[in-house]
Amino acid sequence: MLTIAVSKGRIYKEALPLLAQAGIEPTCDPDTSRKLILPTCRDDVRLLIIRATDVPTYVEYGAADVGIAGKDVLVEHGAGSLYEPLDLGIARCRMMTAGKVGETWDARRIRVATKYVNTAKRYFADRGIQAEVIKLYGSMELAPLVGLAECIVDLVDTGNTLRANGLEPRDLIMDISSRLVVNKAAMKMKHAPLKQLIRDLEAAVNPEVAT
Ligand code: AMP
Repeated sequence: MLTIAVSKGRIYKEALPLLAQAGIEPTCDPDTSRKLILPTCRDDVRLLIIRATDVPTYVEYGAADVGIAGKDVLVEHGAGSLYEPLDLGIARCRMMTAGKVGETWDARRIRVATKYVNTAKRYFADRGIQAEVIKLYGSMELAPLVGLAECIVDLVDTGNTLRANGLEPRDLIMDISSRLVVNKAAMKMKHAPLKQLIRDLEAAVNPEVAT
């Protein structure tokens, strides 16, 4: 049995066509069934539907053999314990700093609100900026508006969310896309089926290379 951990929402939706091309199609919809373990058209493959931030944890502990997770989540988790054999090229966006339109920061003492605490600390430390990083779990855009922080670190796609809240993107921290991650022990124990899955997904992502 191969167990694949995927997060609900955008990543799941964008991963479905790739999984389908690899011959893996869930037999029920997680939104309507409320099931957390989805059977697939293949008896030997099942999907776990979990929170994005939990994907590296399930894969690291071997509760899932494989996971699909955003680079943002992997960097924040510190996913050095996982293999990351493939960039799936889905759920693309950018991790950026952002602040109120037209407002400058005093880089000597800056307060940053984010759910990416480890990544933000490393980013500012690498630039010699002393940042006080405040952990939030959502709606980061609110923080500069009410004086909780001057700066946020968040994902930006169209920029509409920032604009709607009087904020503007500043510096690019990293480009983000979803990656395939694999448990290291599973890579040895289930080598043949995992190698095949990686090859099939690679062909789905890069059809021109596969042919
Ligand atoms: P946008 O308004 O299009 O710039 O999208 C920004 C909002 O969508 C922010 O709240 C982000 O956290 C979220 N978002 C954008 N892209 C992604 C992604 N690839 N994965 C997860 N969340 C995203």
